[in-house]
Amino acid sequence: MALEDQSPLKKVVGARKRAAARVISELCTGCRICVQTCPTSCITIVESDLNYTGIAEVDEHRCTGCNICAIDCPWDGVNMINPDGSRKDQAEYERQLKRLRGYQ
Ligand code: SF4
Ligand code: SF4
Repeated sequence: MALEDQSPLKKVVGARKRAAARVISELCTGCRICVQTCPTSCITIVESDLNYTGIAEVDEHRCTGCNICAIDCPWDGVNMINPDGSRKDQAEYERQLKRLRGYQ
């Protein structure tokens, strides 16, 4: 997939109701944390000219919009993008993840 396809504000493909994760290529270090924490295993590391380790890429069709990768990325390298192409409010997905993990 071309890097431009991962642009944070590109409209999410398909008729989905939840936000989907989108990697910000320039911020991704290829650390693989998101690959390990994604519950649906829909993130892979692909080769990139940006670094030697590669960058994360999300299969949006399998992404459930759980927000986990966006929360866990140490470099804020993942945006959650709403179906209309807007960026999901970070405070909102932090609240959702706290509920998911039983913190509130
Ligand atoms: S956790 Fe962040 S920096 Fe690490 S591979 Fe995933 S998107 Fe890239
Ligand atoms: S939002 Fe959830 S399902 Fe989607 S890529 Fe991130 S961790 Fe995986």
